[in-house]
Amino acid sequence: MTGRLADRVCLVTGGGRGIGRAICQLFAQEGARVGVADIDMELAQHTAESLTRPGLAIEMDVSSKAGVEAGFARLTAHYGCLDVLVNNAGILLSSTFEDCSEATWDRILAVNLKGTFLCCQAAIPLMKERRQGAIVNMSSVAAKSGGFTGYPPYAASKAGVSALTIGLARYLAPFKVRVNAVAPGVIATDMTKTANHAELAARIPLGEVGDPQDVAACVLFLASDEARHVTGEIIDVNGGLWMD
Ligand code: NAD
Repeated sequence: MTGRLADRVCLVTGGGRGIGRAICQLFAQEGARVGVADIDMELAQHTAESLTRPGLAIEMDVSSKAGVEAGFARLTAHYGCLDVLVNNAGILLSSTFEDCSEATWDRILAVNLKGTFLCCQAAIPLMKERRQGAIVNMSSVAAKSGGFTGYPPYAASKAGVSALTIGLARYLAPFKVRVNAVAPGVIATDMTKTANHAELAARIPLGEVGDPQDVAACVLFLASDEARHVTGEIIDVNGGLWMD
């Protein structure tokens, strides 16, 4: 199928690589006009240039309110509106409960949770006024499992993202703006490159770690009109790693 996002203006944070890049590529194939936001402008540019319909690279640190506002201003100056926001930018810093420093806790919460909040806050006036729009947040299996291998701030940040998704979905439903999330399990990206994939695959009922495209397909569904009656939902994409 093609054209599921024909001419929709979409902003994907963390679009420079990994899952975000796969989302940008799929969205462009489906006819979207894509803003590729990333803290790393070189990565953002690389993705934007690779799209079937070239996108707009935007340098944006989602953890900074001023940075988010500047990034949104750049997007709307170029495209004039916003139809779809994908809050994909995220970081994973390894730590146990004992060795997690205050700085590590603060940075993970600032990017994963506050960043999602700030981008939603910036998108709300653009969507509410037009009574249309879709927001897709990036949670994680860790939001439910607590993090199989530790990572306490990461799991807490993603549980926050899931809660924020539901609360915002309820708030924006009267304005016909939908808010959903995807919760990936283990996906082969730079974020997980140091993990032992064979060992992890053995714990996944479907027997393999996922690809960025597996997550992108689910994000596309939630962003498109096919999901017009879906809001406040968090969809697992984890090969059965967590079933509920
Ligand atoms: P990745 O590290 O490969 O890519 C993340 C991208 O986000 C990078 O391009 C990076 O530059 C960008 N980024 C980092 N901090 C940023 C900031 N402050 N502002 C803007 N951009 C920033 O990661 P990924 O595996 O593609 O993960 C994407 C999302 O999916 C994250 O939210 C992650 O937590 C989530 N997730 C990933 C997995 C997995 O197994 N890979 C599992 C569950 C959830």
